[in-house]
Amino acid sequence: MSWDDSGLTLVLGGEQIHLPVLVIIAFVVSFPVFLFVLLRLARFFGATARPCRWKRMPAKDRPSFVLWQCSICAVEAYSSGRQPPKECKKLLKSGV
Ligand SMILES: [Zn+2]
Repeated sequence: MSWDDSGLTLVLGGEQIHLPVLVIIAFVVSFPVFLFVLLRLARFFGATARPCRWKRMPAKDRPSFVLWQCSICAVEAYSSGRQPPKECKKLLKSGV
């Protein structure tokens, strides 16, 4: 492995691989962005894989509705029937 004016030269098993400085800079700059996207994706899939756990809450102000609260993301939602909301409101809010 050696540096020269045009970049980095790697020697792997008798083969020389030349990496220009621009490629190394582009990699270093794009790496945090790539990591951020990866984390966003991991969080998104983690959230979809875990369904909401809805808890029935007493609804004082709207007697004809049932108030539900998700114990995972602490989001409150109303429904008119006995069934809890199907989707997590947190996912809808984040817009992904
Ligand atoms: Zn939820």
